[in-house]
Amino acid sequence: MIQVNLRNIQDEIPENVLLIAVSKTKPANIIQAAYEGGQRDFGENKVQELVTKHSELPADIKWHFIGHLQRNKVKYIAEFVHLIHSVDSLKLLQEINKHGKKHNRTIRCLLQFNISQEESKFGLSRKEGKIILNSAEYKSMQHIEICGVMGMASFTQDENQISMEFDSLHNTFQEMKDEFFQDDNQFKEVSMGMSGDYKLAIKKGSTMVRVGSLIFGSRI
Ligand SMILES: *Cc1c(COP(=O)(O)O)cnc(C)c1O
Repeated sequence: MIQVNLRNIQDEIPENVLLIAVSKTKPANIIQAAYEGGQRDFGENKVQELVTKHSELPADIKWHFIGHLQRNKVKYIAEFVHLIHSVDSLKLLQEINKHGKKHNRTIRCLLQFNISQEESKFGLSRKEGKIILNSAEYKSMQHIEICGVMGMASFTQDENQISMEFDSLHNTFQEMKDEFFQDDNQFKEVSMGMSGDYKLAIKKGSTMVRVGSLIFGSRI
């Protein structure tokens, strides 16, 4: 069933868009089934859960961290995480850089921007993003690679609203690209779109969709 779901979604998305299977709350055997269907990129939003699954599942899985990340937990995932989608402060970036250095690796990150109307959502404003990218602290980091931006649309059925929010994230991406990453080919990712809105997100320029319930069924 999971493998059928995966294939159906893969058939819908263009080759240049990466499907991240959001496996939070799902047990290792379920993830293994998706792995055997060819899926390699998985997304988790809790550090402890990610650490456990990383130890139980095949080593060539690319683990994406997509939840709010506390600074004191960076150390648990720094050695193996493939991409951190949710960087929302300079202090967090500094901590990631520190642990990247410890493990002698460059850790790939996205800046999370707040595109939704809802106050509870995490993420930077454009202004805050620019302050980080202009800072001497950021410029001196040698174990960080910022690969693009991430955002979450409002929890609403209003497609116009979601559409506007995706446009806004894509504009943010373009603005940061023009101002800070013009000659940096690694800055190319726009992580947006979930089960309910990934098709719309792709129309609006998403390069990474994070899909959970449409693959694995609803979470309890
Ligand atoms: C849970 C989650 C998703 C996937 O949500 P679905 O609606 O199940 O596809 C995507 N992104 C983030 C950040 C999430 O926490």
